[in-house]
Amino acid sequence: MSTDPISRIEYLARALKAPRIKDVAQRLSERAREESWTYEEYLDAVLSVEVSQREASGTQLRIRAAGFPMRKSIEDFNFEHQPSLPHSTMAHLGMGSYLATGSNVVLLGPPGVGKTHLAIGLGIKACGLGYRVLFATATAWVTRLSEAQQRGRLQAELSRLRRYGLLVIDEVGYIPFEQEAANLFFQLVSSRYEYSSLILTSNLPFARWGDVFGDQVVAAAMVDRIVHHAEVITLKGSSYRLKDSKVPLLIPPVREPTDAEDPTSRGQR
Ligand code: ADP
Ligand code: MG
Repeated sequence: MSTDPISRIEYLARALKAPRIKDVAQRLSERAREESWTYEEYLDAVLSVEVSQREASGTQLRIRAAGFPMRKSIEDFNFEHQPSLPHSTMAHLGMGSYLATGSNVVLLGPPGVGKTHLAIGLGIKACGLGYRVLFATATAWVTRLSEAQQRGRLQAELSRLRRYGLLVIDEVGYIPFEQEAANLFFQLVSSRYEYSSLILTSNLPFARWGDVFGDQVVAAAMVDRIVHHAEVITLKGSSYRLKDSKVPLLIPPVREPTDAEDPTSRGQR
């Protein structure tokens, strides 16, 4: 085997499965000589490159595996268009302390106000923090669970999903559930309670979730578990999709309810 240090480093970096060390070791050693770094400073610089690139590629892998329907970030959300949501609330959620305690985030509001956008933005932040994330619509979650149930593997699937720090359930309420589906959904919520986080989005206030789940008692028990540890955010206003639209609206914009009329507005902290 070669005794030339550069070839040795190449060989050792391959053996460690740390290919970037090979790429940066020589380049950084030249800089280290020019700038008189200590041995420790040099080793720190070389290892930092490997670790930060590993973390970045881990984040990218988690983002790809999460199944987001599109890439949206908190940074490209226009908070001026959504004065009901303070930027600081999202910035705080983006830091992810809710994930450590298995708390939830619920985004409520009419179509087009940015619920899915913010859910994806928070999901991407969670990936960056090292959490595994899965995104799907409520209907897709139910399909997935009912397939597991048919194979006699519902409990196994629920415990597998508990290994994900965050599940995003988009569009609760667009399509009402059959009783069986409502039951599966309830089991999903229960299996994560106080353990790992959910982000849910819905166009309906909690008071109308009974209609979605076809059963007021099941819906109440579920909402109870979801909001026990949750940040509930109620978005208001008109659809962002129609913001710059020149097409006259076929449906007149709905008058915004006052806080006194809106049963969800008290939930916002
Ligand atoms: P919802 O899920 O509430 O129906 P979406 O999140 O799908 O709405 O938003 C619809 C479109 O408008 C998306 O392309 C989203 O990125 C964009 N959008 C909505 N609100 C904002 C906002 N405040 N700033 C920037 N883009 C927004
Ligand atoms: Mg949406």
